[in-house]
Amino acid sequence: MNGAKKLKENIKITVDTPVSMLPGCGRIRAERLSVLGIKNVIQLLRHFPRGYQNRGDVKSITETPLGENASFVLTVTTAAVAVRLRGGKTLIKCKAFDGSKSCTIVFFNRTYMRDVLKTDCTYRFWGKLLMGKNGYELYPVSVEPVTERKELRNYIPVYPLTAGITQTILSSMISYVLSVLSEEDIQDILPEKVRENLGVCGMLEAFRCLHMPDSVDMIERGRSRFIAEELFVFACSVSMTRVGRRTLEGIKLDAGKSRLYDFTEALPFTLTHAQAKVISEIRRDMINGSSPMARLVSGDVGSGKTVCAQAAAFIAVRNGFQCAMMVPTEILARQHYRDFCGLFGRLGIECGFLSGSLSVSERRTVYQGLKDGSLSFVVGTHALLSEGVTFSNLGLVITDEQHRFGVMQRATLAQKGRREPHVLVMSATPIPRTLALIMYGDLDISVIDELPPGRKQVDTLVINESHRKRMYGFIAEQVRSGKQIYIVCPAIETQEAEEKEDDFLYFGFEKNPEKLPKLKSAVEYENMIRTEIFPEFKTAFLHGRMNGREKDGVMRAFCAGDIDILVSTTVIEVGVNVPNATVMVVENAERFGLSQLHQLRGRVGRGADKSYCILVSDAKGENARKRLEIMRTVSDGYKIAQYDLEMRGPGDFIATSSGSARQHGELKFRIAGLCTDTLMLSKAFETAEQIVTDDPRLENPENSALRKAIGEYEALSVASLN
Ligand code: ADP
Ligand code: MG
Repeated sequence: MNGAKKLKENIKITVDTPVSMLPGCGRIRAERLSVLGIKNVIQLLRHFPRGYQNRGDVKSITETPLGENASFVLTVTTAAVAVRLRGGKTLIKCKAFDGSKSCTIVFFNRTYMRDVLKTDCTYRFWGKLLMGKNGYELYPVSVEPVTERKELRNYIPVYPLTAGITQTILSSMISYVLSVLSEEDIQDILPEKVRENLGVCGMLEAFRCLHMPDSVDMIERGRSRFIAEELFVFACSVSMTRVGRRTLEGIKLDAGKSRLYDFTEALPFTLTHAQAKVISEIRRDMINGSSPMARLVSGDVGSGKTVCAQAAAFIAVRNGFQCAMMVPTEILARQHYRDFCGLFGRLGIECGFLSGSLSVSERRTVYQGLKDGSLSFVVGTHALLSEGVTFSNLGLVITDEQHRFGVMQRATLAQKGRREPHVLVMSATPIPRTLALIMYGDLDISVIDELPPGRKQVDTLVINESHRKRMYGFIAEQVRSGKQIYIVCPAIETQEAEEKEDDFLYFGFEKNPEKLPKLKSAVEYENMIRTEIFPEFKTAFLHGRMNGREKDGVMRAFCAGDIDILVSTTVIEVGVNVPNATVMVVENAERFGLSQLHQLRGRVGRGADKSYCILVSDAKGENARKRLEIMRTVSDGYKIAQYDLEMRGPGDFIATSSGSARQHGELKFRIAGLCTDTLMLSKAFETAEQIVTDDPRLENPENSALRKAIGEYEALSVASLN
């Protein structure tokens, strides 16, 4: 035992050292830590606080709002006594004084506090002050002795936890590691030149800033370094693709075989001018062939982007090439599959579908068809990237809602062609032009700037709890007239809803956060809707933890009109198309990004009927009210995206389709995205371009940590799609 401990203390700690080798970390603790994704030292350091307690902001008893966590420096005036309660619980109580007022300190079940607290000694308490029968009562969650020997830290990090891992355990492990690591032990992902360009500090310093800050400035310094890092890694992966593509030759398609008469004949509607223009740009790229097409189709929600993808696929197939379309979710893949089957069926083109949920034999059939060329079109999830997928002559790769895919996934799919295929990217979210230029700088951009005719504007209402009854009445009316309803909630389970309650924090990574109303738990809420509110209607529940087949079953039933009310988390956010749905209710609307709300709103108003988006929120904060007011009054997705960019920074656009990172299993930036600035993003892209131009494969030793980080980022974005 002793020997093991000694060994532990003697080893040289590096960023790769397993946490189990750290002093005081046994096997069980190491296992608990792995639940948080912490296996080695670097992962421990990258376990960032979700906020800080400002214990330096000491309050007096009289000025503190009751029921909120705050910091108090108090002198204990009476010996602590134990009070036994019925049921075996024990209270430890004593009196304390802050120079103006007294209160009773109360601990539950912490008998040892009786020996810790000494009369006439002064302590710093962090906890909630309440008004009891006999005056003020303080319920501390932490106690620190105030002595001259040791200065108390003002900002205490608050970490995401799991069972068996406390704040104290994490803080002490992290501060140990920070005390033994030196600059040489950490190879910085950002080479020095990059740090200079971006104006950020080194990695070790940044860890110190975030984990052991002395001031808000330090926290900011640490944050901005990691924001820069995330954006820069992303920017490099984009730049590497861009630089790589310049040298390639494209597949030249035959102009005659690329005519679209048959295609437009088979459509159930006439193309809008904007669609026709975009499709002709795509066609021109594909028959030009001097380099592969690399085009982004951008358009507001409901502008009809899918038909552009269909036209491109049609051109490829008529020229004897295969087309693969990759989308981020199974729901969307299946929906596209159905859409394509309908249209392509009329044109005599067979369609394949591929996702992780297919059986082995189903999968094999698709693999075979793609390999021998008998299957010329396939739509699927990232399952298309698996090794088993080979094409006989892949000519076109389409990615829908692309920014959930890393740029490299697109490249991985493209590499499955014998020659460099054409690439078409469909963007889900309207992206402000400035940002699009930066993010998709390697792509030509086509914009569908017109909605199909006959679209009625979706009426947006912002309501609070007091209107809930009326809202349910309205929903019932709509269902009775044959319409369908979406209700979206932000969280999945009660536990998760509680975790998100941040009343414990002085501030998260936002300064002066507004107090947000409690989250609705989707599980309980759905239960209530089904059993109490609308027992006479058919309701269903859709959430991210269901598997592909389950989700598809629910979506299919909803599309077929077999479900009246679909309660869901944001899994339905992107791309889903059910024209008979006329009402979108968003609960806790204050929790969503504007672009995300716009996406959700875009799920209704897709048919001929008048549609409504009801944003339910009890948020009182000025910021939240302002954001909801924008939603109520602005319907142009590009304008909304611009507001979103200004108010929340670009993180949401890059990391996920529109801020749905809160959903399970989706890629998110760990630190960028809450609030950050466009300036850093453009600097990151400029610098990435320089670095990658000088060293296209990042082979210089000073870039090796960077190259590894890009690889990990790409791997993560694949894994997160599973
Ligand atoms: P998004 O741009 O959001 O992906 P979709 O491609 O899903 O939009 O199209 C939205 C709806 O509009 C679909 O039901 C589609 O059939 C319909 N649509 C697309 N283009 C036209 C058009 N030119 N005229 C009428 N309806 C159209
Ligand atoms: Mg779409």
